[in-house]
Amino acid sequence: MNVLIVFAHPERHSLNGALLDVAVAELAAQGHEVRVSDLYAMHWKAAVDKDDFPALSSDGPLKVWKASHDGFAADALTPDVKAEQEKLLWADMVILQFPLWWFAMPAILKGWVDRVYASGFAYGVGEHSDRRWGDRYGEGVMAGKRAMLMVTAGGWPEHYSDRGINGPIDDLLFPINHGILFYPGFTVLPPFVAYRVDRMDEPKFTILADQVRERMKTLETIAPIPYRKQNDGDYQIPTMELLPELAPPGARGFEVHLAPERD
Ligand code: FAD
Repeated sequence: MNVLIVFAHPERHSLNGALLDVAVAELAAQGHEVRVSDLYAMHWKAAVDKDDFPALSSDGPLKVWKASHDGFAADALTPDVKAEQEKLLWADMVILQFPLWWFAMPAILKGWVDRVYASGFAYGVGEHSDRRWGDRYGEGVMAGKRAMLMVTAGGWPEHYSDRGINGPIDDLLFPINHGILFYPGFTVLPPFVAYRVDRMDEPKFTILADQVRERMKTLETIAPIPYRKQNDGDYQIPTMELLPELAPPGARGFEVHLAPERD
């Protein structure tokens, strides 16, 4: 399997850096090919602006969607973006690894998504009409590939439980898992989340490293999050609301987009 790890931590000699080493070593030991995009080491440009579209001729206002669409279609996006798109196409498995910062990914990783996920590549794909909202949520360029988040958090697991003050971790990660990974077609694995990591000692690190190794061994077999696919008949067209009969009255929120377990 070809595995791409997109790593977003400013310090290679950090806990995240150590866990990256553990993951890469385990994947290599299993015979997988591994590539790492170390965004800070690459000095990744995080903000989308006009410099991203060198072929843009007009002096008019920048419309990011249009410039991205035209640039991708003309193979005229910047070399750094094209290189990351090539890595995504190469990968069978993509891992986004980051420390949880303000209940979200670090800005540099969001900027990687903003720039690499071009229109015509990761969104704006397939038929868009009054009958269809394109190939997305389970379909798209990443269909057939797996993806997963590897996250460290300072908070306790209880803080992220169903009644925890931070909100449930699956809710907090839903916009990434569903909105960024499932959207362009990835099959999304449950996230690997390490909690309460700021006071780490060697015994705790040994346990955590073993958990990372174990997860790396099960990437091909672990059951994915059972998100409902957009184009499998579960949603009304064109409003894209879940059909009323598929969830009990009053059901709302992220969980309604999970399909019941199927045999
Ligand atoms: P490090 O700081 O590198 O290390 C953490 C601990 O592990 C230290 O004790 C270190 O000594 C030890 N360690 C490092 N490497 C090793 C090794 N090889 N062997 C053994 N021990 C080691 N947390 C939340 O829960 N929610 C938030 O919303 C949130 N927002 C944040 C926002 C910001 C801007 C920042 C800076 C932090 C935030 N945090 C939050 C905390 C953050 O998630 C953690 O600090 C981070 O996940 C720790 O990962 P790290 O790689 O930076 O750890």
